[in-house]
Amino acid sequence: MKNITILGSTGSIGTITLGIIKQYSDKFNVVGLAGGSNVELLAKQCRDFKPSIVSLKNKDTAGALKRLLGDTCGIEITWGAQGLIKVASFAPADMVVSAIVGIVGLIPTIVAIESGKDIALANKEILVTAGALLMQKVAEAGVNLIPVDSEHSAVFQCINQVDKSEISRIILTASGGPFVNFSAEQLDRVTLEQALRHPTWKMGQKITIDSASLMNKGLEVIEAHWLFNMPVDKIDVLIHPQSIIHSMVEMVDGSILAQLGITDMSIPIQYALSYPKRIPNPSLHLDLVKASPLSFSHPDTKRFPCLKYAYDAARAGGGKPVVLNAANEIAVKAFLNKEISFKDIPYIIKQALDKRQTEKISNIQQTLELDARVRKTTKNKLAHFTVRTIVDADL
Ligand code: NAD
Ligand code: MG
Repeated sequence: MKNITILGSTGSIGTITLGIIKQYSDKFNVVGLAGGSNVELLAKQCRDFKPSIVSLKNKDTAGALKRLLGDTCGIEITWGAQGLIKVASFAPADMVVSAIVGIVGLIPTIVAIESGKDIALANKEILVTAGALLMQKVAEAGVNLIPVDSEHSAVFQCINQVDKSEISRIILTASGGPFVNFSAEQLDRVTLEQALRHPTWKMGQKITIDSASLMNKGLEVIEAHWLFNMPVDKIDVLIHPQSIIHSMVEMVDGSILAQLGITDMSIPIQYALSYPKRIPNPSLHLDLVKASPLSFSHPDTKRFPCLKYAYDAARAGGGKPVVLNAANEIAVKAFLNKEISFKDIPYIIKQALDKRQTEKISNIQQTLELDARVRKTTKNKLAHFTVRTIVDADL
């Protein structure tokens, strides 16, 4: 029996993870949960899975959960940054699923690593902002870090079989999002509702918008760079609208290894939970004939500049990826709140990147300080923008 804690249990990855745990209740057991403000769903998860500890966003939501569950539920209910740390380090857990969205997941994931937990990592923003430091912590603690992101799970599964010195490049596939065939003029007019309609994956709102702008793939390039210790220039991206090949590894002799599967996050999540073993799951069968034909093309960074900004930030190193991520988190939130247009997202990120020199980052404190500064200046900028001026600006 493997004891599991889930950070971000009410989200898209969190709920799929709980579905798998329910399906294989003879193999996995939930000991800790952390979520934001969805008290009703957390209450249901507590009743269904009976964790020993649960954390919510703040004191009010924690109080509401206590009232819903009653005083006698026997679950320790905690909240805020300290609550997340308590849940992440909860002693009985063997593995922590890191599935909070954004840099807010950084400290609890580090705490989990330092507490000796294996990590199933969905949160990509924390590798983008603190990849070197995280990988160092993983090495020091001697824990397993198993990627949940489908592309990285694919690469992880392929390179497990090979000598790493024989890899010539990693090829990450991208669906291209809902606007892959839109002209620059059409992109000027896309709505939030269109951007939230992803063609192949059903995911949380932030990653869905990142997929539409191709920032998601940019973040994934940086994620792959740290996970697989691979130079950014050996990580390519191909548009593959069917999302059947989840990613590939090209070997020095021209062989390409690939991992294929249906577009269901259950596959990489289940693999991360059961690693290094595999669990039979006939419901996840891929019919290759029905999935045919498979097609590939190069991404267009003129229409989707976020991908280029991510490569540039990764090459520059230091604090640049932190700036990229913070500006993106703020811009996506503003777009979700209908405060800016879709094309403003890359504009805002570019402004943030151009404004700053590459800063040297040597610890988590400096990472979080830079993140906070970029958020503040980006929010200030947004407060003085009108949608009109941004749309008219020359991208
Ligand atoms: P989501 O928005 O559906 O869920 C996010 C979770 O984080 C929720 O449980 C929310 O309550 C929690 N959360 C947010 N802020 C919090 C806070 N301050 N304190 C405590 N909890 C907080 O997001 P998602 O789509 O599940 O994505 C999660 C992460 O996994 C992201 O980094 C995303 O890039 C990555 N990822 C997701 C998918 C997918 O299919 N959804 C695929 C690959 C990678
Ligand atoms: Mg992905």
